[in-house]
Amino acid sequence: MQSILSPRLQYLSERGDLHQIFFSKKALDDFEIAQKNTMMSDENGGIILGIIEENSLYVESITSACVKDERARYAFLRQDEKHLEAWSSINSDSKGRIGYLGEWHSHPEKNPSPSKIDRKEWTKIRGELGAPLLFIIIGAETMYLEGIFKEHV
Ligand SMILES: [Zn+2]
Repeated sequence: MQSILSPRLQYLSERGDLHQIFFSKKALDDFEIAQKNTMMSDENGGIILGIIEENSLYVESITSACVKDERARYAFLRQDEKHLEAWSSINSDSKGRIGYLGEWHSHPEKNPSPSKIDRKEWTKIRGELGAPLLFIIIGAETMYLEGIFKEHV
């Protein structure tokens, strides 16, 4: 199967700042597993963990659905505390370098786009945590990626 992800993405903001997103091999492998299963199983999802460095985000790893998450064919609600436990243990293992970058989940469609519920949830997270943030939806053929970056004055 062809991978839907390239390991490095670049964006220019309206002001002309260059923003880059890099993915580790491990994170790409986990996204690829989610991609393979997305048409057959309930929605999968979790948090994105990585490093923020000036205008670049480095995705180190992701968590995937755990037992206590709410999963359905067209819904994913992250509820299992294991995601947050993984975040805090990676954070302490890396001495604070690796932290929360955002959320991901899968959709059972070829070319996914965010639902109204997704938008509502992302707006809430953005209000609580602020930029930079990364929101990813994995579909069977493409991924939807939204990066929110700080504008530099
Ligand atoms: Zn969704």
